[in-house]
Amino acid sequence: MTLILDGKLVAQTIKDQLKTKVANLKNKPGLAVVLVGSDPASQVYVRNKEKACSEIGYFSQKIELPETVSEEKLINTVIQLNKDPKIHGILVQFPLPANLRYLEEKVTNTIDPTKDVDCFHPFNVGKLMTTKTLDENLIMPCTPYGVIKILEHYQITIAGKHVVILGRSNLVGKPEASMMLTKDATVTICHSKTVNLAEITSQADILIAAIGKPEFVTGDMIKDGAVIIDVGINRTEKGLVGDVNLTQVESKVSAITPVPGGVGPMTIAILMENVYKTSQF
Ligand code: NAP
Repeated sequence: MTLILDGKLVAQTIKDQLKTKVANLKNKPGLAVVLVGSDPASQVYVRNKEKACSEIGYFSQKIELPETVSEEKLINTVIQLNKDPKIHGILVQFPLPANLRYLEEKVTNTIDPTKDVDCFHPFNVGKLMTTKTLDENLIMPCTPYGVIKILEHYQITIAGKHVVILGRSNLVGKPEASMMLTKDATVTICHSKTVNLAEITSQADILIAAIGKPEFVTGDMIKDGAVIIDVGINRTEKGLVGDVNLTQVESKVSAITPVPGGVGPMTIAILMENVYKTSQF
């Protein structure tokens, strides 16, 4: 029997715990989300984050800026939020519109590291790379830590396992690899230049797919009994699909995250955890 790893359920448990924690707080944790331009996918992500804040009882503020915004205005917006005592977490929704993409690094570096709830600031990335344990006080990268939390919830052992990660982005693949190492896994990272990909993925006890290619991982690429974490979110004619061909792999694997309802909800739940953490700094 294949176990479906229900991210929606695990995320709800995390949010319920946070709701209880903040119920009696006088100063509510506050999240500011900066949305530049009008990308429909970004608008959905921002709406979901605001919804989670109100569900838990956080203060939330949305700042919308046009894609014609000047560099100075955007950077100053972040600087003002750094100083705002009601705001404990700052999130600038990426990707920025194409004309402003060059500013992503500067925006990231401008956010006060103690309010960097995405864990993008080099200071927090460095802490994550050098930590010996995934200490509760660390700000965690939302999607990679969401993957770990879902495995832990279902008591799937990480230590000693061969974890193969497809994708090496700063958002998912690299931090995931670092965290899996901290959790004592043996880690292999694959990317678009990897040779003999299927040979490597077939050795994975836990396979994490984060490449953004609809249903790329097929039945012949996995080992019997593997655990599959599908991070991919791809909009296709048949709706949202992951990076894994669920129909092909489902009967072979011991556990798998669905898309939607797997890693996606976990990402928001960890973001909410980070806002709580930073409000306690
Ligand atoms: P990204 O920045 O585009 O990185 C994709 C990675 O996949 C790159 O490292 C790339 O290799 C690798 N790749 C591409 N084609 C490949 C191939 N044929 N074989 C092996 N590796 C290949 O993407 P991302 O931001 O990490 O996101 C990945 C996916 O996860 C997307 O579908 C995204 O929507 C989804 N996502 C979901 C959540 C969530 O909450 N569930 C959060 C974040 C992202 P190179 O480095 O060599 O180019």
